[in-house]
Amino acid sequence: MKKRSNKAAEPDDTLCCCEYVDRLGGRSHVAACCCDCEDLDEACDRWMKREPQNPDSLSRVAATVTDRLRVPWISGAKKVDLSLIPPLILLPILLHIAALHYLLGIVVLTALPGMVLWYYYFTHRKKGRTLFFLSLALFSLFYMYYLFLTEVVPRGDVTNVQLGIITLGVALTLLALMHTKKGPGYVKPSPADTHSTVTYHSPLQEVDSAYHNGLRHQVVIANRTSPAEQGAEPRAVAGSVLEKDSGKRNWCPFCKLVRPPRAGHCRICSACVLRLDHHCVWINSCVGQANHRSFLLTLFFFLLTSLYGISLVLQSVCPTQSLLTALLYCPDVYSQSSSALCFTCAWYSSIVTGGLLHLLVLQLINVSYNVTEREARIALRDKTGRSLVWGLIIDTGVYSRGFRSNWNEFLTMGETLEPKALKPTDLV
Ligand SMILES: [Zn+2]
Ligand SMILES: [Zn+2]
Repeated sequence: MKKRSNKAAEPDDTLCCCEYVDRLGGRSHVAACCCDCEDLDEACDRWMKREPQNPDSLSRVAATVTDRLRVPWISGAKKVDLSLIPPLILLPILLHIAALHYLLGIVVLTALPGMVLWYYYFTHRKKGRTLFFLSLALFSLFYMYYLFLTEVVPRGDVTNVQLGIITLGVALTLLALMHTKKGPGYVKPSPADTHSTVTYHSPLQEVDSAYHNGLRHQVVIANRTSPAEQGAEPRAVAGSVLEKDSGKRNWCPFCKLVRPPRAGHCRICSACVLRLDHHCVWINSCVGQANHRSFLLTLFFFLLTSLYGISLVLQSVCPTQSLLTALLYCPDVYSQSSSALCFTCAWYSSIVTGGLLHLLVLQLINVSYNVTEREARIALRDKTGRSLVWGLIIDTGVYSRGFRSNWNEFLTMGETLEPKALKPTDLV
């Protein structure tokens, strides 16, 4: 007979830092992580009696284990996402292995990005949400900074000013990331909350039939709140012309609301996002109207800090070579474990920096042409956009009003989220 040891949590019960409400709704304590697992008891009983296991018993035991893996927190113990952990263990081990010999370095630094890309496509295909990439990105930043402090600074080649610049760069990157994590600007069902201050110019009928006639429109969309209203037209400020079928075209069947033009539904976040650019696994959030600028700022601060840090490391471990050749040829760097580790980390940072530099260039081109990543992808799929410079530039010709106007629109588009103070938890 099954027993329930935990009492059910009352709505107004306040939890101490070590208590939590478990997946069955009972009040539990982190110290009781090994007590009363009925599923485990049942699985053990069956194993002892040599009876066949229930098909879902293993998954139920796994769910209980992950539910009980908690860290004490102010308003009750927080669940630890297991996908956070692999980068914390694997990255230091792999970098230390890569620092043993240059051949091992080549193997590890080739396999590591390959494995990460494979996992990225694996999770992206399943539209699953994972903290693995955010954990890898944040831990890489902290670990590189830690190694800079413990391995490079003691060598005596880095001045206090240079250390200060690196520290400032890391801090600015984190601040910009926290701002980005405040949210991309979700489409909300309340008319008062749902407005987009992006200015729309001459949208093509096939792409956005809701607004046309080539004039500038500041649009305010009222969202429907019930399926019964499906088919009703969205409201707009005077001057904009609406078409009869606009509601159907912009209706999101998942969120049950009408989206403003350029908004899109993210299947990973299960929400509609204003001026959706893309879902970024590295920050575990969508990039949209409210956080696109801070997203680019995060990339910009990171790249400046990383490039400067790499140059300082190479100057220290390979003083006889020029900066451009030091990464390719640095004699005797593997003769000392510390310099080999620094050199390996410089290579790892260079690979990450190269990937993010490519992303930043694409983003700057998209902003210059007033195209979001999502719109570029749809235009490529539907063959409605021009592809220039080997696909680097996708010009849909829908919203672009020239370089300066496009950048002006990007820099002045409103944030629809309520301003709120930055908290360290914004990073997750
Ligand atoms: Zn939606
Ligand atoms: Zn998303």
